[in-house]
Parts: sequence; structure tokens; C-alpha cells
Amino acid sequence: MQFKGIIIKGYSGFYYVWEENQNSQKVWECSLRGKFRLQTQTFLPGDHVVCTKINTEKCTAVLEKVLPRSTELIRPQIANIEQVIIITSFAEPEPDLALLDRILVQAALQKIKPILCFNKSDLVGEISQKELLATYTPTNYPLIVSSVPENKGISVLKNWLHNKISVLAGPSGVGKTSILNALETHLSLPVGAVSRKSGRGRHTTRHVELLPLSGGGFLADTPGFSRLKLPANLTRESLSLFYPDFQPFQAFCQFKTCLHREEPHCGVREAVQTGQLNQGRYERYLQILNEVIEAERSY
Ligand code: GDP
Ligand code: ZN
Repeated sequence: MQFKGIIIKGYSGFYYVWEENQNSQKVWECSLRGKFRLQTQTFLPGDHVVCTKINTEKCTAVLEKVLPRSTELIRPQIANIEQVIIITSFAEPEPDLALLDRILVQAALQKIKPILCFNKSDLVGEISQKELLATYTPTNYPLIVSSVPENKGISVLKNWLHNKISVLAGPSGVGKTSILNALETHLSLPVGAVSRKSGRGRHTTRHVELLPLSGGGFLADTPGFSRLKLPANLTRESLSLFYPDFQPFQAFCQFKTCLHREEPHCGVREAVQTGQLNQGRYERYLQILNEVIEAERSY
């Protein structure tokens, strides 16, 4: 009998497939049809697949077919990611906005919807919270304020994750594991588990794995998205297209190819001067722009 499912991980020649449209929450251990072994076809976590059952008791099956992918992330290598949940902490560690902005560019470039989650709201006052939120409100990306000890924002996040394939991103220490534990109370992953000796956290394996969420949907918790290099297909002219908050002002730039640096009559720069656009966000844009230009030179 055939069934449709989603690959949640690949491991030593087997693919573990979560059966769709089922109440039993079964994971099938699938081997490949011989013909696939000869082909260059890849199978990634996140792939929607068709399988044939071999042994219902042992939950073994054969992978027959991969359905077309909507997106394909290179690092981490996952198919069909729809959204990235970027966790930033208000404090401890201080918000790494340079990293946040880079992830936002990366996500927009790959047509993955970013959701911004600001965690540890219990550590800072309302004024500092509002200031940070105001920086990102004009992007129109969903913003979530969360606190694990106060159980704040967790149910909102759960709603966003519902029936979607998402990836969790953000630097170490911001609370990714704690949030996962709060979302899925049966997990109990070790929090703050960075071993002093090895300096490595819980990501000691290189296997990407999708975690099936009890409310429906899948979450990949992998460090890959947080340590990103800017993609090679990013050009200096295209960079600001990935800044939705710059869009309303770009229309006022005199030059179509305006990079919003020193060009005269630049709508973006004027918006920064009049306080309509966030200064820090603009300065970080200039940093990324410099990097993109440097990278173009080195080709
Ligand atoms: P990860 O490295 O991103 O997975 O972060 P962890 O989940 O391991 O959390 C790092 C530290 O921050 C731990 O000591 C957590 O208890 C703490 N932490 C996580 N979320 C919160 C929060 O919302 N508020 C406070 N005050 N501490 C938090
Ligand atoms: Zn401009």
C-alpha cells in the first residue's frame, strides 16, 4: 500500500518518513528503490515523498518518488522550508542586529518568510522593548515578544508554526532550546548545554532533522542558518530590494540604480535624516553593502 509522507531525516542510507494524514503519528524507515541509487536524485529532510509499505509492524517502507520542491535551502540542507523563526534576545546576550539583518536578507532572497521573535522580555523594561520593536515594525514581518519563564508569546509562536515547515535561527544563548521545550513540553532538551570542555553545544551531529510538532507542522532546529555567508548571487543593486522597510522611500531616489550611499536625491537617506527610517538599520545596510561590493571584486 502506498502513502504520502515527509522526510524528517536521513541517516546511514535510510530515510525516516512521517506519514501524512494519519492519527497514529507513525515514522517509517524507508530504503531507496534500486533505481534511485544509480541516479543523482537527492532526498532531503522536508521533501514530500510517496512510499510503499513493506512491513506495517516494523514500519518499514520503500521510497518511490519525491514530489516537486518549493524551496531548497543549502545550509542547512532542507527542502520546502516556508518560514524562518529568528530568535533574538532583548538581553543576555545583547541583541545581535547585524546577524538579524543578514538573516533577513538571506530569507528574503530565498523567498522564505521571516518571523521575528524577541525573547527574554522579562529581562528588560518596556521602553527598551518598544525601541527594538519599532526598528522592525516597518518591515511588516510578524513580530513576537516572548519570555520563557513567564510563558509569554509561546502560544502565539505555536500558532505561526502550525502546519508549516519552519527553521529556527539565532545565535547561541538567546533561548532556542528553552522555547522548543516550552512549545513541546515532552521534549526536555538540555538547556544552555554548551559543554565548557568542547565548546560545542547539542549540535554535535551533522544530521539535519525535522521535529514533528504536536500541533501539526515541523521545525528544524539547526545552527546553519545563523552562521551564514552572504549568498554569491546577491548584487549591490539588488540588496535594498530585500529591505521591505526601504521600499516606500526608494521610489523617491533620483537614480534607479541608487545604492543609497552618496548619491544625490536619495529617498532612503532622506528618510533616515528625517527619522522616518531607522538609523541603525540603515548603517547595518551600508555594512552589508560594503561586504557585497568586496565580494563582487573578488570574483
Ligand atoms: P540556545 O542556545 O539559543 O538554545 O539558548 P538556551 O535555551 O540554551 O538558553 C540560554 C539561557 O537563557 C538559559 O540559561 C535559559 O534558561 C535562559 N533563557 C531562555 N529563555 C529565557 C527567557 O525568556 N528569559 C530569561 N530570563 N532567560 C531565558
Ligand atoms: Zn537611494
